[in-house]
Amino acid sequence: MTAEILDGKFYSEKIKNSLMKSIDTLKTTYNVTPKLVVVIVGEDEASKIYVANKHKTCLNLNIDSDIVQLDANISKEELISEIEKLNNDPNVNGILIQLPLPQNLRKDEIEILSAIDPIKDVDGFSAINIGKLELGVENLVPCTPYGCVKMLEYAGIEIEGKHAVVIGRSNIVGRPMYNLLLARNATVTICHSKTKNLAEFTKQADILVVAIGKPNFVTKDMVKKGAVVIDVGINRVPGTRKINGDVDFESVKEVASHITPVPGGVGLITIAMLIHNTLKAICLQKNIDIPLLQDY
Ligand code: NDP
Repeated sequence: MTAEILDGKFYSEKIKNSLMKSIDTLKTTYNVTPKLVVVIVGEDEASKIYVANKHKTCLNLNIDSDIVQLDANISKEELISEIEKLNNDPNVNGILIQLPLPQNLRKDEIEILSAIDPIKDVDGFSAINIGKLELGVENLVPCTPYGCVKMLEYAGIEIEGKHAVVIGRSNIVGRPMYNLLLARNATVTICHSKTKNLAEFTKQADILVVAIGKPNFVTKDMVKKGAVVIDVGINRVPGTRKINGDVDFESVKEVASHITPVPGGVGLITIAMLIHNTLKAICLQKNIDIPLLQDY
């Protein structure tokens, strides 16, 4: 068996084409040009690449995008004050704080992210939006897990009644992924670094989502024949610009029914969903009801 590739480029282009129509409607009917502001604290090289990609995507879709670069030594209070300025700027529709924050701010991450106005929180990481998701309300949902479930839906892969196993329990991927799959009536198991006999769980998965940050960690022997495998991992190969996933693509594609590649998988969908969330934020801010993913 060779797995069908879930092509992130294909699905992200479809999503972006659909969003372009919504951007046009917002401009022509509501006189709104969407504006996203990405705040980057410090000089993390990988973060700069991600931010540049987000900026480029915004410009390609004719939406305004600003990057606010702040010093790594900024205090929590100063950073929150910068966020509040953006909260109060009526021209700013979406605010994103690029993670990871510098070491000195990490203990305050939840407080900092929760300072973003929940209806401008396009990453969906604020306590309010995470809490809503936990309660089954999908307002502004974290882009990566949201993109993963959208890709499954667009590919016609049924989630309801399936056993989904998520490896990783971070606030930005694993936990929201758990809630999104549960809301779609999967039976969900979540595994982490303290899970004993991990392969016993992964081998039961109809849908296996891997978000751990360990290159090529999941191998063929850990995957059930015919499983759908979503690889969220982005691991830089030291000294290069190359990236690897968390799944050993070459061996796992022999047993999976569907698999996402890295690069070219979940990462591209994530950026498309960021634009989706920026438009959704405008709809929430201005009480506008327009279809965003109308092609599906
Ligand atoms: P975190 O480091 O925050 O979380 C990693 C999770 O994996 C933790 O829950 C950890 O468990 C678990 N874990 C680590 N080692 C093991 C192991 N040996 N067995 C089982 N579980 C393990 O990472 P993120 O969630 O932020 O990111 C995960 C990966 O996804 C990274 O490669 C990241 O770059 C990528 N990513 C990709 C995105 C995209 O757009 N495609 C977006 C965001 C992230 P514990 O909780 O016990 O420590």
